[in-house]
Amino acid sequence: MDEASKRLFSPADPETLFTDLSEIGHGNFGAVYHAKYKNNGEVVAIKKMSFAGKNRDEKFDDIKKEVQFIRQLRHENCVRYISAHLNNNTAWLVMEYCLGSASDIIEVLKAPLKEVEIASIIHGALRGLAYLHSMNFIHRDLKAGNILLTESGCIKLGDFGSASLASPANSFIGTPYWMSPELITAMEDGVYDGKTDMWSLGITSLELAETKPPLFHMNAMSALYHIPQDPPPRLQQPDRWSRDFCQFVERCLQTAPAERMSSEAGLGHPFMTRDRPASTVLDLIARSVRAVQSSNTAQNFRRGRKILIGAG
Ligand code: ATP
Ligand code: MG
Ligand code: MG
Repeated sequence: MDEASKRLFSPADPETLFTDLSEIGHGNFGAVYHAKYKNNGEVVAIKKMSFAGKNRDEKFDDIKKEVQFIRQLRHENCVRYISAHLNNNTAWLVMEYCLGSASDIIEVLKAPLKEVEIASIIHGALRGLAYLHSMNFIHRDLKAGNILLTESGCIKLGDFGSASLASPANSFIGTPYWMSPELITAMEDGVYDGKTDMWSLGITSLELAETKPPLFHMNAMSALYHIPQDPPPRLQQPDRWSRDFCQFVERCLQTAPAERMSSEAGLGHPFMTRDRPASTVLDLIARSVRAVQSSNTAQNFRRGRKILIGAG
């Protein structure tokens, strides 16, 4: 391994540092664990990413990119990096612990969120995005599943595995249903910038209001065809929501990036600046905890377990 890569990882053996690992989430890379420091009991989240087997070098490059990205971030709306380690062809990315994602909350409640809850979550995510964009970074995988909630009611962007340290960019990366028209067509004609995240933020707003992103009933390939072709989606029941919310979604979901609002402009939109009770996110977490406790289905228990681990 080259010197630059070595410097990304702490020489300390993570097996000796952490204890009580229990799985709270997983993806194609491996799994995320709730764990504690052996010495002081402090709680952390650990994302273990294996780079064994086929495409070992590519996998390790992706892991290095994610570590390189997250270790530069210093913002209250981005998940805080703690350390990174190597152990048996597996990288351990140690981060601040969050209770779960906005998507976990929807799964547990099995219902759309209230407008004031949506505004709070979107506001936290947007502050994180504005910070990333001010550094000329792009997140590229914004969706409810990558917006995390902490026990103290903070909203954090997570999952920087698809993020770009440069803008503009042109790679095809992200999760299909949340991808912007220009990101989908970039392989043929050009580049995209931070505005792509604003499209995903608009789609995430619809996801929080309607539990699923538009086109979710289709397979991913069909969705990728429709996104750049169709008129942009809007809230399905505009009468249920305030004018400010409907208009905020419209300002995010403009097909032409030049017509779309920037993250900085978004922070000044009335949907974001409007007063909200300070306890909105904590109340939402309490509501979700009650929903997990009163349900006894195995599936809900699995989803809710991570919400209960910290809040219980
Ligand atoms: P995707 O498959 O969406 O690309 P991923 O596989 O790259 O995701 P992450 O999104 O980083 O992985 O993490 C997977 C899941 O683990 C998250 O959706 C979340 O539920 C949980 N998780 C991730 N980071 C944390 C954290 N810091 N604290 C608590 N839970 C977390
Ligand atoms: Mg993710
Ligand atoms: Mg990811």
